[in-house]
Amino acid sequence: MTVRINDILDEVSAYIPDADMRIIEKAYVFSARVHQGQTRLSGEPYLNHPLEVAYLIAQMQLDVTAVTAALLHDAIEDSLTKVEDIQAEFGDEVALVVDGLTKISKINFRSEEEQQAENFRKMILAMSKDLRILLIKLTDRVHNMRTLEFHSRNSQQRIARETLDIYAPLANRLGIHWLQVELEELSLKYLDPQGYKTLKTKLDTIEKEKEEDLRNIMGQIQAKLVESGLKAEVKGRIKHIYSVYQKLKRQGIPFEDVYDVLGTRIILNTVAECYETLGIIHSIWKPIQARIKDFIAMPKANMYQSLHTTVFGPGGERIEIQIRTREMDYIANEGIAAHWRYKDGSRISDQDGEKLSWLRQLLEWQKELKDPREFLQSVKIDLYPEDVYVFTPKGDVRRFPVGATPLDFAYSVHTQLGNQCVGAKVNGKIVPLRYKLNSGDVIEILRSAKQHPSKDWMRIAKTSRAKTKIRTWLRTQENEQSIALGREILDKKIKNLHLPKDIDYEELARDFSFKSAENLYAAIGFGRLSVNQVIHKIAPEEQKKVPDEPVKKKKQDISSILVKGVEDLLVRYARCCRPIPGDKVVGFITRGRGITVHRLNCPYVSEVDAQRLVPVEWDVKVAQSHEIEFTVVCEDKPGMLGLITATIGARNINISKMKAHSTATGNSICIFRVMITDLSELDGLFHDIRRLKGVENIERQ
Ligand code: MN
Repeated sequence: MTVRINDILDEVSAYIPDADMRIIEKAYVFSARVHQGQTRLSGEPYLNHPLEVAYLIAQMQLDVTAVTAALLHDAIEDSLTKVEDIQAEFGDEVALVVDGLTKISKINFRSEEEQQAENFRKMILAMSKDLRILLIKLTDRVHNMRTLEFHSRNSQQRIARETLDIYAPLANRLGIHWLQVELEELSLKYLDPQGYKTLKTKLDTIEKEKEEDLRNIMGQIQAKLVESGLKAEVKGRIKHIYSVYQKLKRQGIPFEDVYDVLGTRIILNTVAECYETLGIIHSIWKPIQARIKDFIAMPKANMYQSLHTTVFGPGGERIEIQIRTREMDYIANEGIAAHWRYKDGSRISDQDGEKLSWLRQLLEWQKELKDPREFLQSVKIDLYPEDVYVFTPKGDVRRFPVGATPLDFAYSVHTQLGNQCVGAKVNGKIVPLRYKLNSGDVIEILRSAKQHPSKDWMRIAKTSRAKTKIRTWLRTQENEQSIALGREILDKKIKNLHLPKDIDYEELARDFSFKSAENLYAAIGFGRLSVNQVIHKIAPEEQKKVPDEPVKKKKQDISSILVKGVEDLLVRYARCCRPIPGDKVVGFITRGRGITVHRLNCPYVSEVDAQRLVPVEWDVKVAQSHEIEFTVVCEDKPGMLGLITATIGARNINISKMKAHSTATGNSICIFRVMITDLSELDGLFHDIRRLKGVENIERQ
């Protein structure tokens, strides 16, 4: 079926009842005249193409300007028409959009890299003037992809590649799901025809095989929801071919191992109903904890909101269930276009304008970047989410894997800068070492001559370059530090026992079959040799006289080793109890790893060899964040999680991880990992959370 102008007019009048249709009709006549006699490769009149594109724009419910511009989008490129003609006939706004589209259409992405970058810059510039340019460009590409069969094999490959590289990621970034899915599927069809065909057959087969199972599952869900008085639309869904294709490729697994091909989607009226439904689903089938995702509380960058859970269904197979409101479902599909759909007055509100910040940010960068290749890199940022691109204070672009931290950045500049890195200023704000770099961040490394790498850094750094540098430093320093530590422990012990100071350490070392005193110290510092064994050798009688109460003794003797934000010795924080400044702490010599600091009341401490405990105290000169974990037990009601996260956020505390699940007794157990500076900050936070209505208990891990 071919689209006719009346189809477009009908569509538009359905959502803009009082629209002035004359301008659309005029654009139709104009376009028909300009494209008269032209045909597409398919042999059909060229005019069909702008009609199809305008129809798609009308289906996205954009305003009259957008529909008009869509009808005219190829008018300048393909004929002698000038932008001034469009301006005279249709006004500035339509002319601006058509002009932008003409500029984009001249861009050839398959040229030399530098040329390509410059082109990309032009494209971003053109589309950033008005988002409608980009929306029309994307629908233009969809129609061209739908009719790609009439092109030569060569240009099919080129256009499909370009679509997959540039336009599908753009659609994704703007949250226009239906466009992304269609562009990806059509591209795949041309880029890997065999793979596409095989996979398509398999997906069709599995859909048929599981049809009844899925209907049963949906029926069960619907019945349970009705029981609870909830009105919902329950739909079955099958994974899109390109996402399965990617998964197979990425993980190198056979098709049979892709388990959650089938799923369901539940559409409700309110957010509260969504959370209620999540609870109901979990009461029917057992959820896989790690796969519960709350994109309602934490929307994706492209505005996507939904609750996701994967459960073990009736036959034990895994089913992914998505739960969302009607509005969320709409936005999940239409993305940014949902905010541009015609609403009273047709202009987007300021709040919706916020959503365009990504585009605006791109523009800011392009102003500052002189080299087009840098610009291309910075544009690719958001199109290729597996990498982050950040800037040096001078504006140089550096690329890192997702999850990279200031340490990776520092080591990428200079080894010495890495070794002395204490944190960074990101966009002017001080952040801890663990901060995860985001695309667009401007990073300035903070250094201190007193800083050294520690074992912790191996977990903080993400790049192999940084890890290698840290490992090298640790290896050379570890020995020295162990010597210092061992010497300190031994001296202290000798002093406490009032033993004579004129000990021949070299000889003592030989008694333990070490080559030198340094090796003896190192063994103590490493925890390979206990200090009491050494004392026993020096003065067997003395040692027995003094009862060994290491933990108590610490209290009067608490100064030798300091735990600082910047470690002088091999100090790390125990992950079992995650101490923070203000906690009462004790050090434990871990074999080969220096000192591990535990909270004094950590159950682990009471079980270990007391001889290996050493006194430590906090000496905080540099405020540093420490990760701690706590659990909140609260009423299982909608919005509770949001309330708690908001409370944490209000104190400017970063949440690094959170999990929540419902209990049979109607409670919800939420586990948070947050970055805390010290005990008083934590106490303040707990105080705030305890005051929230519905919170029953809060406990630090
Ligand atoms: Mn076109």
